Amino acid sequence: MNNLETLIPKKNPVPTLSFVIPCYNEEESLPALLDALSKMSDHLQTTGRIAGPAEIMLVDDGSKDRTWAMIETARQTHGATGLRLSRNQGHQAALLAGLLNADADVTISMDADLQDDPTVVEQMLDRYREGAQIVFGVRGARDTDTPFKRITARGYYSVLQKMGVDIIPDHADFRLMSAKTIQALDSFKERNLFLRGLVRQIGFQSAIVTYDRAERVAGESKYPLRKMLALAIEGITSFSIRPLRMIAILGFLVAGLSLCYAIYSLAVWSLGAVVPGWTSVVLPIYILGGVHMIALGVIGEYIGKIYMETKARPRFIVDEITRPVAGAGRKSADSAAPLGIAAE
Ligand code: UDP
Ligand code: MG
Repeated sequence: MNNLETLIPKKNPVPTLSFVIPCYNEEESLPALLDALSKMSDHLQTTGRIAGPAEIMLVDDGSKDRTWAMIETARQTHGATGLRLSRNQGHQAALLAGLLNADADVTISMDADLQDDPTVVEQMLDRYREGAQIVFGVRGARDTDTPFKRITARGYYSVLQKMGVDIIPDHADFRLMSAKTIQALDSFKERNLFLRGLVRQIGFQSAIVTYDRAERVAGESKYPLRKMLALAIEGITSFSIRPLRMIAILGFLVAGLSLCYAIYSLAVWSLGAVVPGWTSVVLPIYILGGVHMIALGVIGEYIGKIYMETKARPRFIVDEITRPVAGAGRKSADSAAPLGIAAE
């Protein structure tokens, strides 16, 4: 024994685990997902990484297909917990609902389509045992992405970093979080949710594991370009006011240029030259008109955010929550009331 030993972070005990999976129209992926998670749960238990079978928390985000019916069946067959939102409220809201209602020492959130490699879960739990409270799953290669997604993703992370947003590039929402970090996350009451940014704000000891993202096991992406853009803008405007500052800087630049132009105009006038003037008058009007509109748009985006935040609407609304039937899973009967509007 030497003094160094006391500096090594105290290890966390073997935890209970909850997988939190937001599902939107995932009837095609669910069978493979449930099989993979059950196998993983058994494996983690036999290797002594978790205490008891893992909770499988499936959040139905207002699916229009048979997703909820399948989740109810999975309650019997796989001992799954089902949480049904009252309508489609978006991936981030569904994820938060699942995290806040999970009942375990640690949660691991992942997509329903098995793109997030469940075998990495082992490493996540090992990092937790070593002391990390949050473990980020970071994608190694982007081979399974289209070139468009690869380029836009790279551009996006670099813009975010330039805007001063603290974010881990190529980390989406495949993440281990301990119960106390979820409690801390819950103390952020904002409606505009960008969880991967919020999680960086709460601090705590963290670690990273890398994995290669697989193809979707079945079905299609539930993130069309429109939703992706909305999330991208959310990421910037929820964590940085640099765009507003950039407008001010742009204003100074334009004012400086205008001053130069004013001096030039006076010089030409004093030399007696006649300026025809049409182009030099019309062009700045159009250009400045455009610049003004962009500036107003950016300011408007922030005002819109203030508007939504002041309404303080619930971040998600739970329709029902079904705990596993006796013998099918770790828990034995319906328990605590869901955290939904009441929690806000
Ligand atoms: N999802 C959701 N609500 C939505 C959109 C998506 O709960 O409105 C879920 C979806 O079922 C999946 C996860 O969020 O489990 C990520 O979506 P997807 O895999 O389609 O996104 P991609 O991996 O293509 O970016
Ligand atoms: Mg996916």
